[in-house]
Formats: sequence, C-alpha cells, structure tokens
Amino acid sequence: MKHPGFYLIKRVLKDARPYWIYLVSIFLLTLLATPIALLKPYALKLIIDSGFGTDPLPGFISSFFSANYTFSFDTVLIIAVSLAILVALIDNINGFILWVLETSTGEKLVLNFRTILFNHIQRLSLSYHDTKGISDSLYRIQWDTMSLRALILNHLPTLISAFITLLSMIIVMFMINVDFAIIALCVLPPLFILTRLSTKLLRKDWYKVKNAESDAISVIHEVLSSLRVVKSFGQEDNEEKRFINHANQAVKGQVKMARMGAGFSFVVNMLLAIAAASFLFLGAHFVKSGKMTLGELTLVLAYLAQLFSPLQSIIKNLNEVQSSIASVDRVYSVLDEQKEVKEMPHAVHLTRAKGEFRFENLSFSYEKGRPILQNISFDIQPGDRVGIMGTTGAGKSTLVSLLMRFYDPLAGKILIDGEDVKKYKLSDYRSQFSIVLQEPVLFSTSIGENIRYGRPDATDKEVIEAAIAANAHNFIMKNNQGYDAMVGERGMQLSGGERQRISLARAFIKNAPVLILDEPTSSLDIRTEALIMEAMERLMADRTTFMITHRLDSLSACNVILHLENGKLLEVVRDHDADYLTNKKIAFLK
Ligand code: ATP
Ligand code: MG
Repeated sequence: MKHPGFYLIKRVLKDARPYWIYLVSIFLLTLLATPIALLKPYALKLIIDSGFGTDPLPGFISSFFSANYTFSFDTVLIIAVSLAILVALIDNINGFILWVLETSTGEKLVLNFRTILFNHIQRLSLSYHDTKGISDSLYRIQWDTMSLRALILNHLPTLISAFITLLSMIIVMFMINVDFAIIALCVLPPLFILTRLSTKLLRKDWYKVKNAESDAISVIHEVLSSLRVVKSFGQEDNEEKRFINHANQAVKGQVKMARMGAGFSFVVNMLLAIAAASFLFLGAHFVKSGKMTLGELTLVLAYLAQLFSPLQSIIKNLNEVQSSIASVDRVYSVLDEQKEVKEMPHAVHLTRAKGEFRFENLSFSYEKGRPILQNISFDIQPGDRVGIMGTTGAGKSTLVSLLMRFYDPLAGKILIDGEDVKKYKLSDYRSQFSIVLQEPVLFSTSIGENIRYGRPDATDKEVIEAAIAANAHNFIMKNNQGYDAMVGERGMQLSGGERQRISLARAFIKNAPVLILDEPTSSLDIRTEALIMEAMERLMADRTTFMITHRLDSLSACNVILHLENGKLLEVVRDHDADYLTNKKIAFLK
C-alpha cells in the first residue's frame, strides 16, 4: 500500500483527461437514472390517491387536459400505466446508450493505460525486471489496468450517483414527513463508521490477493517457457503443487474478502431492516391517527426502499472499489519506478562512433555489499578485437552489460571516443552495438523479419546479403517458404546453430561499429562452429569487437586479451604471441 486512496483516484482522473467528454456524458447519463428512479413509484401513488382516493391529479398531468375535465377511475389508471411505461422507456434508452458508451470508452481507456504501462516497463532497468520477474509485469499490464476501467466507469459513477440519489431521497422524505426523514438520517452515522473501518481492512487484504494471483501466474509462465527442462526432469507434479500452492492462497484471499464483504453487507442490511421496521410501525400509527394518508405511507415506504438501495449499492461497491484501488496502486507504483539508467537532461546525439573505449576505475555491484566488478581500467582502440576470458562468474557478462549501459557503474566511468558515455542519448549510444549471445533470441515472426530486426528499413536484397554473409542463406533456402518461414515462439522451430546464424545475419544488417559476442559458439558442433567463426571473421572486420569466450582457440583471433577473475582485471595483454595462449592453457589445466 503505497498511496492513499483519494490521491490515486485524483491521479486516475487526471490521466483519463483525454476521455473527459465521454466520461462526463457517461456520468450525466448515470445521473439521469436518479430522476427516473424518483419517478418510478409515482404511478402507484397516482392510482392510490387519485384513483382510489379523491385527490386531484398533480398539475403537470392535469395541465394537458381542459380545466373542467373530470377524471374517471379508468382515466387515472390509464394515465398512471402510461406514465409507468414512459418512465421504463426512458430508463431503457438511457441504459442502452450507457452500455455502448461505457464499453467503447472503457476499452479505449484500458488500451491507453496498458500502452503507457507497457512503454514504461519496457524502459525500466534490467535490475527491476531481475527482481520482479516477467509475470508480475504481465499481470499488472493485463489485469491491473482493467481495474482502472472499473474504477472510472463503474465504481466511481455508481458511488457518486448513489450519493446523489441518497441526498435527493432524503430531501423528498423531508418534504413528505419530517419525522420519517429524521429516523432515516439516524441510520447514517453508524453506517459511516462501519464504512471507514471496512475500507482500511479491505484494501490491505486486496493487496495480498493480487500478489498471490500474480505469483500463481508466474509459475505458469515459468513452466511453459521452460517446458523442456520441466519434462526432462519429470517435475510436472511438483510444478502443479507449486501452482496450486500459490493459487490456493489467492483463492483463500478471495474467499476471505468475500466473507468480509458479505459480513459487512449483513450488518448493514440488518441495520436498514430495523430502520424499515420502525418506519412501518410509526407509519401505521400515523395513518391510523390521520396524520398521514395511506397513499403517503405507501409512497414513503416505496421511497424508503429506494433510499436504502443506493446505500446498499455504496456498501456493496466499497469492496470492489478497494479491490480496484489496490490494482490502481500497483499500476502507479510501477509508473513511479525510476528508470535506473537515466539519460542526462541535455544528452547529445551520436551518429556513428569510431569505437575507441576507455574504462576508468569502474566498479559495480548488483546488490549492496557484494561487489561484482572492482576498479577496472583499460583502453581499447578502434578496430581492436578484445577477448574477455575468466572463469564462470568472474563478471564477464556484467562487464559487457555495463558497456552497453544496461546498468550504470557505481563508481568510475566509461569513455567512448574520449567522451563520457553518459553524455549521449541512450538510444543513440546503444545503437552503436550489435550483439550476438550464447542463446540467440529470435521473435515469433518470419526469418526475414527476424533478420530485418537489426535495421527495419533494410531492403529484401540487403536481408539476403546479410544471410549469405552469415552462412545462413543455404539453410534458409532449403525450406519451402524461404525467408517467409516462421520461426515459432523464441525461434523454437529452428536448431541452435540455425538460430545463431540468423542472429549473426541480424548483426550484419545492423552494421554497428561495435560488436559484442557473448560465447556465441559454445553450444555448437565443430562444423557449425567453423561456419559461424568464418562468418564472424567477416563481421568483425573494421569493427571494435568484444568477445567473451571460454575457448582459448577463439581467443587467438583477438589482439587484446582481458583476463577477469573474481571481478578484478588480472591482466590486459595486447598483441600476444602464440606462446601466451599455450601457457594460459597449461595454467588452466593445472
Ligand atoms: P559466465 O562465464 O558463467 O557467463 P560471467 O563471467 O559472465 O560468467 P556474470 O554473469 O557477469 O559472470 O556474473 C558475475 C556475478 O554476478 C555472478 O556471481 C552472478 O551471481 C552475479 N550476477 C549476475 N547477474 C546478476 C543479477 N542480475 N543480479 C544479481 N547478481 C547477478
Ligand atoms: Mg556470462
């Protein structure tokens, strides 16, 4: 629970400003429901007082007739029935327009909030995603935003119109009978206290429910995206238990909320029933002693039912409002999350860098008190091929992440072509890099589109040239659909080596001045590795290249070697001779 409810409601309304015309129309139409509701019991009063009784018809009806017209019982009946149908007609037309308007505005609103949230979450730092996980973000984008719609379109208007109905009913009551109105008012203070109490309790628990639901979804997400591992370890049953565990918590939470809501509603309804019973008691006495006509009593009792119905809808709504507000809070707490890697206010453009780098006393850690990189300094010239070696966990991938500004260093800085990298616009800076990872990531579209991801405006000819350079063209053409063949989700319909060559083609087409290779050949057979190494040789020409590799053979293609261990730079060797790697190999084996 980060924000107070009123603050959130204000903020939601502010962000929904572009839709204000629709929102106001919806609100006014909802308000129209009040006078319509007020008119509903009127037909009954007409029949009783002017049909069975002898009261004259009210002015707004009799003015339609000539002054000396006498109303028979049947005429009054017809008038009353027509009035009832007219009111129902207006009520339903109003309902029809409201329904359509609410849906179209609601969908647009949700889409708008989803887009804002998706955009923001995409740009949040990797450390945010490392800690929160993908499914939590999914839940917030998909489900929590729906609550914004419910809050703006359903709950708030219902609450406000219920309040207005309540007020008007109270006024009408005062006009009919002061004693009754005062009794009706006595119901309000205990209701108010109950409401305050329950909102606090409800909201806190709704948070827990939403978190448990998002946890349950994250199990599904994790399992489905690593099905091969789950199946091969035969962990289906355990995963099912894990899912049920989280889902059960959510269910328990939901039931608890329902219990609280229902209990609260029970107390309120009993309170109202007692009030209604006292009305009946008093009313009967009043009619008997002639203080009130039977028609007035019937009217008052009908109004009473309608006075209590907005009260009930307020109470019923409160639970849902708290649920929505908990979701809205989850949405805004993400939107308030700072992008950790910040762009400077006057960041400048960078078109194409030469590819000279300098690390100055760089230190970094993911968590406080556990340094991952310490005091790293080195210089790289344009066109250098830098091999980064070191045992696993040494900090090689971290170093490269810092190079691409996925994180900012705790201390020290990185210079590109002699300027601090922070000086440049983030997107410009990152566009200087092409990256090929150990596990190539493809998107669920065609091969051609995946290659074009490197440069969306590339022509078909350029796509084919890139594929040829990456030794991918041959295997692509073996397929009937060629470049239009779909690769499946995350490229799962291709083999590892095929995926790797497509990701190389993507790097070729991007043609960035700096190339990053994070163990790109470590999971391939020797023949494919040779094909890829050959393609990579072509790709490395005239670029500054950083290659992380455990293979000393791959290092022989590099002219600078950085040796990292335990987050420290052990040595930087430039233009090593053949013996250097042989000695390293021997040292490793010892
Ligand atoms: P490998 O050769 O196995 O790929 P590496 O040298 O690339 O290893 P890094 O991935 O840079 O190693 O990790 C260095 C250390 O930082 C490891 O001890 C790891 O546990 C830790 N680490 C890596 N990523 C994170 C993260 N997102 N949050 C917290 N700690 C992390
Ligand atoms: Mg690594």
